[in-house]
Amino acid sequence: MSNHYDLIAIGGGSGGLSVAEKAASYGKKCAVIEPDRLGGTCVNRGCVPKKVMWNAANLNQAIKLSSSYGFEVVQKGFNWKTLVESRENYIHGINNWYTNYLKDSNIEHIQGYAKFVNDKTVEVNGIHYTADHIAISTGGVPTVPDVEGAEHGITSDGFFELQEQPKRIVIVGAGYIAVEIAGVLNALGSEVTLLLRRQQILGRFDSLMRDTLTEEMINNGINILPCMNLSLITKNDEGKLTLTGNTGFEVSDVDALVWAIGRRPLTEQLNLTAIGLKTDKYGFLPCDEFQNTSQAGIYALGDITGRAALTPVAVAAGRRLADRLFSDQTDRKLNYNNIPSVVFSHPPIATIGLTEDEARKIHGDAVKVYQTRFTPMLFSIGEQEEKTAMKLVTIGVQEKIIGCHIIGHAADEMLQGFAVAIRMGATKKDFDDTVAIHPTSGEELVTMR
Ligand SMILES: Cc1cc2nc3c(=O)[nH]c(=O)nc-3n(C[C@H](O)[C@H](O)[C@H](O)COP(=O)(O)OP(=O)(O)OC[C@H]3O[C@@H](n4cnc5c(N)ncnc54)[C@H](O)[C@@H]3O)c2cc1C
Repeated sequence: MSNHYDLIAIGGGSGGLSVAEKAASYGKKCAVIEPDRLGGTCVNRGCVPKKVMWNAANLNQAIKLSSSYGFEVVQKGFNWKTLVESRENYIHGINNWYTNYLKDSNIEHIQGYAKFVNDKTVEVNGIHYTADHIAISTGGVPTVPDVEGAEHGITSDGFFELQEQPKRIVIVGAGYIAVEIAGVLNALGSEVTLLLRRQQILGRFDSLMRDTLTEEMINNGINILPCMNLSLITKNDEGKLTLTGNTGFEVSDVDALVWAIGRRPLTEQLNLTAIGLKTDKYGFLPCDEFQNTSQAGIYALGDITGRAALTPVAVAAGRRLADRLFSDQTDRKLNYNNIPSVVFSHPPIATIGLTEDEARKIHGDAVKVYQTRFTPMLFSIGEQEEKTAMKLVTIGVQEKIIGCHIIGHAADEMLQGFAVAIRMGATKKDFDDTVAIHPTSGEELVTMR
């Protein structure tokens, strides 16, 4: 069998699989190079296992709430191992599905790390493979800080490997992965401390989302400590950690420490210098809006590009690239504006477009904001109160909606349809003219004054 392909995707994650699947659907000969399980970060160490854990955490919250609705439920316990086993079985099912899918689609799975030999050739385990088009989609890995004893901590990858529930856990980080892990473990009964390097969580989010989530996390019992930098981590004979901060702060008897301080792009094995490609100062691989790198025939997809690190973004960019290369759709590309996303915190946040601050910086007084905050019906019965808050950011006399931010129960399922409307240029009047669905939380978005 010839080792020449129409397209080689380096990385069997969201971006690589998508570009190869689409190219193969146009009858092209494709290969995906992946050393690990198929599916990449999302399936194996990201969105999928995270959502399973989030679902488990929600079930525990629902059990607690159920007595207010008249249920006499006795919770006898919670078995972390069962949850992890069910989760991993589910993930193995997805891995197998991908293996079969590639076979059925005549896409070759080459197992190993790819390394460029020249702009048309990569080497995997000593064998050369050539292609007319090569898409790089090697994603990223979590960052670990340069702190004495940092190796005693784990990252989000390690969180998904935990075989026992940590009773007392410290999470370092302020981004979405940090608040998601904190929320899950807190809802499942761990004692959680979140250490922030600066003042706030979710720095790039709208202030209403940030403030509401901070309040809910504190109400739920998460200990949030701002302006903390760890300088030493030690581990005793029983495996317990002591964390020392540079302000003299110390916390001991910690079962696990999670570094959730960011991710770095993975390019080191690729030998990019062989094809004259340079990464930017953060290690990302620059590309234009058509995913072209500076080297003809070489493309970058997904997290490696440093743009909107989300699975559907990598998938959409990959599919559009294949459309453009193999289906005469010469202008086909992903529009990176108005990408909706969700933080699976407790409660979840759904967001699209500009925050109020961003909008005011760009558009000044032309910005008008509508917002609301209420207790959703689910929590109006019983003692477990949890708020919902929403904000619409509009611009101009037309009041075109340029930002929509929701935090609260079911926010994750609420935004997708609104995202279509916002992408199509919906105005506040379009929202107001839409008949509400009652009684829901979503109806507040079309009835805001
Ligand atoms: C904890 C966590 C939670 C997340 N939650 C969400 C979420 O809820 N929603 C969402 O949209 N996104 C989420 N993400 C982000 C999402 O997982 C990524 O945006 C997505 O996986 C990016 O896809 P990708 O193809 O760019 O890279 P990846 O999926 O990371 O795939 C890259 C693949 O390339 C392989 N590789 C690396 N080097 C080489 C090489 N030299 N040769 C061959 N193969 C190589 C790797 O083994 C890997 O499998 C989450 C991420 C994390 C870490």
